[in-house]
Amino acid sequence: MIRLILLPLLLIFAGCASPGKQTAALQPVKFAERPKNIILLIGDGMALSQVSAGIYWIGVGKTAFERFPVVGFHKSHSCDDLVTDSAAGATAFSCGQKTINNAIGVLPDNKPCTTILEDLDQRGYATGMVVTCSAPHATPASFIAHREIRAFTEEIALDYLKTPIDCFIGGGEHFFNDRPDRLNLEDTLKQRGYVIRRGTTFGRLPLDGSAPFMLFTAEREPPTASANRRYLPDATRTACHYLKKRSDKGFFLMVEGSQIDWACHANDATWLRAELVDFDRTIKQALDFAASDGETLVLVTGDHECGGLALAEGSTKQEFKPVFSCKLHTAAMVPVFAFGPKAELFTGLYDNTEIYGKMRAALEIIQTQ
Ligand SMILES: [Zn+2]
Repeated sequence: MIRLILLPLLLIFAGCASPGKQTAALQPVKFAERPKNIILLIGDGMALSQVSAGIYWIGVGKTAFERFPVVGFHKSHSCDDLVTDSAAGATAFSCGQKTINNAIGVLPDNKPCTTILEDLDQRGYATGMVVTCSAPHATPASFIAHREIRAFTEEIALDYLKTPIDCFIGGGEHFFNDRPDRLNLEDTLKQRGYVIRRGTTFGRLPLDGSAPFMLFTAEREPPTASANRRYLPDATRTACHYLKKRSDKGFFLMVEGSQIDWACHANDATWLRAELVDFDRTIKQALDFAASDGETLVLVTGDHECGGLALAEGSTKQEFKPVFSCKLHTAAMVPVFAFGPKAELFTGLYDNTEIYGKMRAALEIIQTQ
């Protein structure tokens, strides 16, 4: 009886304590028992303070971050350093192993490790990456390439020929068609059946799933969100629907908000705000797809903190004062948000490498490494 009375009261107080519009977090979604698809969204340089800044800038109760029912934390350190870089950080996610800073898809002894994208491709899953950096940049590179040093960008681009990734949307076309070694990787990809397009519209892509494609959004690095770059949310939605048609087995899609990190390195709050708004819209697209699909696990995390960001006092919630304490990465723990079948695997506090094992466990793939 006491319980029956207390529960409504608690709900009333809970309602008072959380101002702003309620998010869709508690809307019932019927999930499958295990996921068929995984969307892994990585905010490069995005840890708790960047997420907090995004929530206060966009408005409490209005962000996609607040729709996740499950949250955990990962420890981001690399094999040789308390403070990771994006290469070791992404390799931890892609291979489930701590490696040394600068290493792309290789272990400390320089042996290549099979990435989750490569493994799932071999198992018949459709695979894709959508990013706001160039294709050979550290995070996307760590899912498809194996190189000792992240700066070997020409060689990393060559590794895109080794795994038949179904779709790539991002920058860096010159690594494929204007190379010092005069190889034209776009011609090779076309010979293998790829559709190659440039721009930020999707109408001329094989969206019926009939062919793999690469859409280059920039010759070099794509512009900043504060300079009106807008493609990431639509590209993510487009990639989800395309990949779903591409394989009956399921799909793995890695999406990166690449420039959250760059804004923090630059200690540029205006740029950071635009990137976080863009990334939040992108997460919303992934969540909306997953909520209607019911067979998709959506994960959002960062690889590390960047800029030592603090949210100092301000006159209103939205007008707090962002204070950066450095121009480099820091070792602060990073939140992991999960939605969909098997999301509960991602609660708790664990190493960044465990995200790999948890994704495999969610898909019920036996650990082989
Ligand atoms: Zn960085």
